[in-house]
Amino acid sequence: MLEARGLMVFYENMLALNNVSIRCKASEIVGVFGANSAGKSTLMYTLSGIMEDIRKKEEMAGGERITVLGDVLFNGESITHLKPSKRARMGIILCPERRRIFVESTVLENLRIGAYLATPSQARETLKYVFEIFPPLARLKKRTGGFLSGGEQQMLAIGRALMAQPKILLLDEPLLGLSPLMQATLVKATRQIRDYRQISIIVTEQYARPVLPIVDYAFILENGASVLEGTREEMLDNPDVRSAYFGV
Ligand code: ATP
Repeated sequence: MLEARGLMVFYENMLALNNVSIRCKASEIVGVFGANSAGKSTLMYTLSGIMEDIRKKEEMAGGERITVLGDVLFNGESITHLKPSKRARMGIILCPERRRIFVESTVLENLRIGAYLATPSQARETLKYVFEIFPPLARLKKRTGGFLSGGEQQMLAIGRALMAQPKILLLDEPLLGLSPLMQATLVKATRQIRDYRQISIIVTEQYARPVLPIVDYAFILENGASVLEGTREEMLDNPDVRSAYFGV
């Protein structure tokens, strides 16, 4: 469904992604794991198209030169140079790292903003669904985003992404800085989203352990290169991977 083939991303002369090929099939949850600076956000920006915006902005401002080589394919069609707005319309929705909700808008306003690609009936139905999987958001509908806890903000960020009617959801480090209990809640919701709405999901994390139980397939990024891939079972059967990435 969504695939990267031989992606190379340079920030000036710095190689941030080195020949990365990953894929996520329909209704799969794919994990991309790697330490700080491994290239996870660069990959998510390149898949969602935000990188095209950043690249053009830098070019216009005469700033650093960003080069993207390789291919991104969605359902077999090359979308490598499509704008992020076009990709969003196709159903590729990014939930960026560090939440990025609108801190001055209420929970409900944030969710309504997310519905810009939805029909009114889709928006109503999805709003109901978001409140079902994240009950705290229903209680906090009128609360300003900036006054939510980190976990509630992450629920809101995922909820807002769902309002945009994704076919594939890109979750960039959704568990960052959250308590184990909150992490477990979000992991459960992520599986629910795939199971009941058949939305494919690519999720990046620094630590694989909390997410591993729900991924079908995983890739490991090191210094911008994909060094290992396999099913959840294959990853768990590899003793080096187990100790280095899963802490088990
Ligand atoms: P983290 O877990 O810290 O978010 P990451 O795996 O998401 O890390 P990226 O943010 O993709 O990693 O960064 C990959 C590398 O590219 C890092 O060395 C980073 O410093 C560098 N980098 C990212 N954005 C830029 C930029 N705009 N200009 C120059 N270098 C950048």
